[in-house]
Amino acid sequence: MSSARIPKPLPVDVPQALEAICAYGHGRCWYCDGKLPAAERAIRAGWDVQRIDDQPVASIILVCPRCARRKARLGEHEFERRLTLVPPVHSSPSPRRPRVQPGAAGATG
Ligand SMILES: [Zn+2]
Repeated sequence: MSSARIPKPLPVDVPQALEAICAYGHGRCWYCDGKLPAAERAIRAGWDVQRIDDQPVASIILVCPRCARRKARLGEHEFERRLTLVPPVHSSPSPRRPRVQPGAAGATG
């Protein structure tokens, strides 16, 4: 079986890559969507840069220190498995709006 979906370590310098990504101003953890801090802090905190060859064009992903540690502990396979069990929380537009009672207006003070 091929393991094309599993991110591989980049052949490049991770701090260098982090700095480049920070320069663009938009970096987020691939797994938990955590926001990438400034390059210096990210490097010190232990952010990782990995590559996924899954797509036609290889994409570079960021892994925050928390996810990197979890991944190291669980192993890549188990980590990926758990990710599929728990879908990522995306900010979905909720259909419910806070209701404003029409009769409540005018009673200020
Ligand atoms: Zn993360």
